[in-house]
Amino acid sequence: MSEETLFTRIINREIPADIVYEDEHCIAIRDIAPKAPTHLLVIPRKPIPRLVDASPEDKAILGHLMLTVGDIARQAGVEEAFRVVVNNGAGAGQTVFHLHLHILGNKKFSEDSL
Ligand code: 5GP
Repeated sequence: MSEETLFTRIINREIPADIVYEDEHCIAIRDIAPKAPTHLLVIPRKPIPRLVDASPEDKAILGHLMLTVGDIARQAGVEEAFRVVVNNGAGAGQTVFHLHLHILGNKKFSEDSL
């Protein structure tokens, strides 16, 4: 049996986290090492390792994550200016292999950088 991911352990309350939102498909937590004053992680309950590992059967989950980002950003008060980042693969900086969307807000973003 494959080992539980860090985020599955957080979802299962085996590891503590600051949970700001949850529903039947996903959970949102504060990042433990924030890269912006508001740095949240939106995580599907299903442990899809990377974005490229999602399959057509995950279509509803992926759509749900994108729609829920808006609700979570509104709840956090950053809906006027935030970024959503998905790191796919170690080469792109992914360190936890359980799909997650970073929401970064309350930060001055430069116009010429991603
Ligand atoms: P990645 O680099 O995989 O895109 O993002 C993983 C994120 O998870 C990082 O921003 C990192 O700070 C965060 N993280 C790692 N371990 C923990 C933890 O135990 N709790 C929380 N809340 N965030 C974590």
